Amino acid sequence: MWVFKQSNQMSAWAHGKNSGFVPTMGFLHEGHLSLVRRAKNENDVAVASIFVNPAQFGPAEDFDAYPHDLDRDLNMLEKEGVDAVFTPSVQELYPNGPEITVRAGPLSLPLEGQFRPGHFDGVCTVVKKLFDVVQPETAYFGQKDFQQFLVIQEMVQSMKLGVNVVVCPTIREIDGLAKSSRNVYFSNQERKKAPLLYSALREAEKKLVQGKKPRHVENEAKLFLEENGFRVQYFRVASAETLEPVSKPEGRVLVAAAAFLGKTRLVDNVVFVV
Ligand code: AMP
Repeated sequence: MWVFKQSNQMSAWAHGKNSGFVPTMGFLHEGHLSLVRRAKNENDVAVASIFVNPAQFGPAEDFDAYPHDLDRDLNMLEKEGVDAVFTPSVQELYPNGPEITVRAGPLSLPLEGQFRPGHFDGVCTVVKKLFDVVQPETAYFGQKDFQQFLVIQEMVQSMKLGVNVVVCPTIREIDGLAKSSRNVYFSNQERKKAPLLYSALREAEKKLVQGKKPRHVENEAKLFLEENGFRVQYFRVASAETLEPVSKPEGRVLVAAAAFLGKTRLVDNVVFVV
């Protein structure tokens, strides 16, 4: 497995290859590996990147505390048969600081956009740079960050980047908690409560399918989560295409939520057809 820190070396290796690409921030788990396996199966070569992108963290967020273990990550990727890994430094990707950036499109504004201003600009900026370096045929993203997938797809279409963008199912722990690098932050007690976010999403799905009004479903879910110690930022029923709120669910529906449990912020969602 090749490991490249320099963009020009990564590009030279990737040039002319049909590659499937998985961008990550490292501290890998089964969720990341599921994307890597898709990339490996569906392309001639699989490329992953590990880069904790400062531009997508707010000033009060966990950039400095973000967990990392590069040796462990590289071992896991090698076991999956990944062909090349790009592990640039901040200086390598942002040699002039954040001078030239991408502004994310309208799909970045609701949901996460309301609580993490500038986050998706940072995501789009780094994904654009990574795509330029790796030149993938197809890039793989997790449904866990469903809005991120839509925002990247919107950027790719608008800027004619010519990369296929594929979304893959959320991988969960046995109790339903979505796997996340940030799950290591939980205390034992918080870890026991954490799966309730997914329970609330599934319960909301059930009620919406039964014809209950989205506003009622949202309010009941928020109440349930607050009673269980979560600090809910949003719990929203929306169109899975436009992210606009819906008063009567039809077609592909997204229920997306973000909530703090202690100091840890969880995001999760379900997508289904009504
Ligand atoms: P991250 O390292 O958190 O930036 O995630 C890198 C990629 O892995 C993103 O496309 C995430 O959506 C995806 N991902 C993270 N957690 C999961 C999961 N539990 N299941 C599937 N994909 C995931």
